[in-house]
Amino acid sequence: MSIQANYLGMPLSIDELDQENLAYFAHCARHDFQLQKCDDCGLLRYPPTTGCPWCASPRATWTPVEGRGEVHSYVEVHHAIQPAFKAHTPYMVLLVDLDTQKGQPSETEALRVVGNLTTPDGALAPPDLVRQIGIGTRVRMVFSDVADALSLPQWTIDGAALQPTRPWRYPQE
Ligand SMILES: [Zn+2]
Repeated sequence: MSIQANYLGMPLSIDELDQENLAYFAHCARHDFQLQKCDDCGLLRYPPTTGCPWCASPRATWTPVEGRGEVHSYVEVHHAIQPAFKAHTPYMVLLVDLDTQKGQPSETEALRVVGNLTTPDGALAPPDLVRQIGIGTRVRMVFSDVADALSLPQWTIDGAALQPTRPWRYPQE
């Protein structure tokens, strides 16, 4: 069964043939972050795909993964490309290195999960929060409920983690 929803006035759709993303978002709807773990080489992968990017095996098992990590890179968006996001600028898109499997299968690799920066309750972060974030900031996953069958994994500052004294930010201010 496909997923149809509306996010900030924007239609979101996952086709019924996209079994991997349907399974991924079925877990997310329960606020349960799971990734496919290859049955042959044992590595996790993101985003969801039909085959293992490391060994090409089609066999995998959905596995719970801790939603914690560190900002690998970010984009601070001031000019919304979608009208629905205009009221929320500046907003942040984060690329986060998960702690799980960081440095595997080679030292420069990690599971890098994309999401917006949000408040702890999953709303897009206000400008004062956006300014605190940079490369190296510790974050934890939260879910934004969009519809009954659809919740988006997002990122918020991990209040329990030791933070860098000054996370690295692009020189723009
Ligand atoms: Zn594999």
